[in-house]
Amino acid sequence: MLQGIIFDMDGTITKPKVDFAAVEREIEEKFGFVLDHAERSSPEARAKAMEMLDQVESQAAIESELNEGVHELLDYLSQKQLKSALFTRNCRKSVDVVLGKHNLHFKYVISRDDAKPKPAPDAILLLSKMMEIHTDYLLMVGDYKYDIMCGKAAGAKTALLRYQKDLDMEVIPDFEIDSLQEIIQIIERG
Ligand SMILES: [Mg+2]
Repeated sequence: MLQGIIFDMDGTITKPKVDFAAVEREIEEKFGFVLDHAERSSPEARAKAMEMLDQVESQAAIESELNEGVHELLDYLSQKQLKSALFTRNCRKSVDVVLGKHNLHFKYVISRDDAKPKPAPDAILLLSKMMEIHTDYLLMVGDYKYDIMCGKAAGAKTALLRYQKDLDMEVIPDFEIDSLQEIIQIIERG
């Protein structure tokens, strides 16, 4: 029985517009900087890489569009007294822009400023403590393989929101969905 849902932001709460994986590849090519191994880069490379990433993220946040059914799903979750959280590789500043723009509120938010980014499971384990829910009863929902990888590694259930693209998946999600409304069916089935 699920007790809490953790949402990815870009492409899950918002419509998929920017291919952040491609942006990160470009940053790696230009500056030799990899977000997951930031400690391996020089402070100069890191500063340049973060400047580019911040710029792409800020623009994406300003232009973001809400995905179908977000408010309905969040209303449903609060009616059922299920907890919801947000976990994104985005920076905190862009998260605040997106949430403010779409009038959304999450009690639990983890950005890359708060914990090791996906696919590391650290943030899910942290959220499990913050939400006081064992990872067995958490569902991680996202549109990219990292969402599924971090959920699995933490021992949570996982749902992949599909957009007919080849994700080169290295892990199999527990659920594959074509819309956020399908989360309600997953919860009702128990
Ligand atoms: Mg995403």
